[in-house]
This record gives sequence, structure tokens and C-alpha cells, in this order.
Amino acid sequence: MTRKRRVAFPRMDNYNVALNYLVETGLDCTCVMAPPMTRRTLELGSKYSPDFVCAPFKYTLGSMLELLQEEHVDVLLETGGVCRLGYYGALQKQILHDLGYHTEFIDLASMGKHKARGYYDVLRRINPDASIPKALRALKDGVQAVRYIDAIEDRVRRDRGFEVQRGSMNAALDTFLAELSAARCRRALDCAYRKASQTLDNIALNKPEHPLRVGIVGEYYTVMDEFGNHNIERILAYMGQGVEIHRWMTFTHRNLEYNEQADLALIAPYVRYSMGPTTSATLAAALRYAGAGFDGVIHVKSFGCTPEVDAMAVLQNISVDRKLPILYLSYDSQTADAGVQTRLEAFYDMIDMKRKKQS
Ligand code: SF4
Repeated sequence: MTRKRRVAFPRMDNYNVALNYLVETGLDCTCVMAPPMTRRTLELGSKYSPDFVCAPFKYTLGSMLELLQEEHVDVLLETGGVCRLGYYGALQKQILHDLGYHTEFIDLASMGKHKARGYYDVLRRINPDASIPKALRALKDGVQAVRYIDAIEDRVRRDRGFEVQRGSMNAALDTFLAELSAARCRRALDCAYRKASQTLDNIALNKPEHPLRVGIVGEYYTVMDEFGNHNIERILAYMGQGVEIHRWMTFTHRNLEYNEQADLALIAPYVRYSMGPTTSATLAAALRYAGAGFDGVIHVKSFGCTPEVDAMAVLQNISVDRKLPILYLSYDSQTADAGVQTRLEAFYDMIDMKRKKQS
């Protein structure tokens, strides 16, 4: 019997669960899951990264190095992107090569314009014997798994600050992710989602009619990666009487359902052109939160992220025009938990006082 090829990719928060499904059921390979991000991941990545790169480069390089140091990996995948992320795969491949790792490296950014042909070639490189219909079915299911993850996380984000039994929503999320991870067919995916929805329905909440509401906006990777943003959603949710947290930026919204023209129309009073991979979405989300009467917005980005630096000047204008408090958080490898915590506490105090003054 031939050994299954071992496929890995850098950690991407909870979406790894969906990629695991795709590799195991669609490509007939063994998925080697990267360990959760820790300080060590970041230190490893920073050690071998050029100083000026943005933090996602360091996180993903550190994650790949941990995988290669601890596991046998046949194929390592790196994603592409529309900012300089598109060049990162090539650079990371060179760094790993210079460090003596010669694992097959597939850079999805190098697929060129013909995406369908590119994906077909990638599939053949990973497993020449993989069945195309089976891979397509698994891809469809994997996309559904991503939608499920985003839907469950959205509920948890909104309500975890108000649970009667502290930690019950996080526990439900962990169980859901474990079940999704073990699923090997669409029925099991659907079942895990239904079960998690019911569990969340049954969790007792002590939620006021008009809770404080905060929208999180910003750069794709840092905004979604809990370790990378130092758990701001969890920390803020539990402050004071609880905070309802919203975040538009998810894989589902940005990659599966995105309508950039609609966002550009919304932000037209502030900008005339698309400004980068997530900038229009960041500005549009901030305007929607302002329109819905949110108490504040937190802008999250990696240090040196050019598209989101551009967004900040426009956010200042939105903040003044719409009287919307905005906290700006910029992360690099030196960012410490205590600094983030202090700034969140100050922000919470400010929006809480503002709300009390208004009522
Ligand atoms: S969006 Fe910004 S932080 Fe993210 S990869 Fe691109 S430049 Fe780096």
C-alpha cells in the first residue's frame, strides 16, 4: 500500500479545520495541522524574516518552520494575496531553502491568470492520483465548512460577553471545531453545525436590550487571527457589563460574497478609488457601524501594512463626521498583551462614559 502524502499549510486561525477537510477527503492525503500560534512561532518567524515585512509574513513563516521542525511534511502550501502577500510565498520558499528545507513548496500566488488551470496543476502536484470529481465535492463541502465556522463565530462574538456561565460559549465553539475537524462527509459537517447552533440557543444570557456595540475592522489576517491580534474580541467582550462585538471581515464576506462596487458606492463621499485588498471593506464596514449607531470601532492592522495605513486617514474623517470613537491598534512582533489590554480598557471606559452621558 502506498503511503499517503503529507500536506501542510501555515496556521490560519480556525479555517485550518476546513482546509483539513479538503486535504483529507478531497485530495486523499494526510493533513498535517500546524500547531497553534504561540510566542515561539512569532520568534521563529521574526528571526528569519526581513525586518520590514508585515507581521503576517512572520507568523506564517514561523508556522511553517514549526511544522518542518516537528513533523514530516511532503508538500507545504502557501496562499497568495492581492497586496505584497502575493510575493511572500516566493520569498518564504527561498528562506526555507536557505535554511536547508527542501520540502516541495507550492505557492498559490504563482498560479497566474488562469486560475482553473492553476488549481488543476496544483491538485496534480499534490496527488497525481486524486479524483477530480471527489476533489470538487470536497471543495464545495470545505467552502460550506468555512461558512459554518463564520456563522458560529459571529454568534459567539456577539453574545459571549453576556453569558450567565462564563466560558460556555467558548466551550461550545471548541466542541464545534473539534467535531468539524473530525468530520469526513457533508452530513457530519451539517450535523456539527446544527448541534452547535442548538447548543448556542440553549446558553443562558443576561443581555440588556441595548448593549454596548463595537465593530472590529481592518487588515485581513490580523483581524481574523486571535493570536495575532492578542485576543481583542474575547477581552473586550467581557469588559464591564459586556460588549457585543461585530466583525464584517471574514472569509465568507471577503472571499465568497464580496461586492466591491457596493462598498465603493457607500464610501464614495470619502474616497474615489479602490485603495487596496481590504481598505474599501474596512471603510465601508466603519460607515455601516456608524449608521447603525455603534458605540465605537476598533481598527486592527499589522505594523507596516500600507493599504490599512491609507485607510486610517479616511477613518479619522469618518470618526469626526459621524462622531464615532475609533481605536487604532497596530501590531508587530514586539506588541505585548499588557499594552493591548490597557488600550482596550481605556477605550471601553470612554465608550461606556459616552453612552451614560447620552442616556
Ligand atoms: S494586507 Fe497588509 S498586513 Fe496583510 S499581507 Fe498585505 S501588506 Fe501585509
